[in-house]
Amino acid sequence: MNDSIEKLAELFRAFPGIGERQARRFVYFLLSKDKGYLESLTNGISELKKNARQCENCFRFFTDDGHEECDICSNSKRNKNILMIVEKDADVSSLEKSRVFSGKYFIFGGTVPIILKDTPLNVRIHELIKKLRLLLKNEDLKEIILGFSLTPAGDHTDTYIREEINRALPNIKLIISSLGRGLSTGTELEYSDKETLKSALENRH
Ligand SMILES: [Zn+2]
Repeated sequence: MNDSIEKLAELFRAFPGIGERQARRFVYFLLSKDKGYLESLTNGISELKKNARQCENCFRFFTDDGHEECDICSNSKRNKNILMIVEKDADVSSLEKSRVFSGKYFIFGGTVPIILKDTPLNVRIHELIKKLRLLLKNEDLKEIILGFSLTPAGDHTDTYIREEINRALPNIKLIISSLGRGLSTGTELEYSDKETLKSALENRH
């Protein structure tokens, strides 16, 4: 018994932002729930990958509806002059819920740690450069907004992307801005409310 508690707790520990104590609380929470709840949860998890796919364009996950692009990328009403680069899917959800941004997105897939030594980079920098090349050829893109959290890793990712773009695409005609300080230091984009996001967008620099 103890072993299965430990095993499950270990799996929860891999979740973003979850420590050992919280992981254990999840397990005890599940133990307190009835069979129906556990079945829905188990089914939900096993169906997840079957019904979801990743957008070929922005790398967002979306419910598979037979299309290759997500509903944001394929929406012709979205402003294709502005592309916001964010760390993860949850950031897009947060921005979409607040309805403050009408451009398109690109999911970078992570942040770039300050100490890079020997750390394999798990971010989509090559995909981003490739995408920018393509968009600039079509002359649709006018501005990219770096929408990273105001954390040391977020700040560093901002700098990293600017440097990589300058190196790979020198002399391009493109405004590169970053979300304003409407987000207070340490704020995660994902947890910001509508007013904060709106002011961060208006005060981009
Ligand atoms: Zn997309």
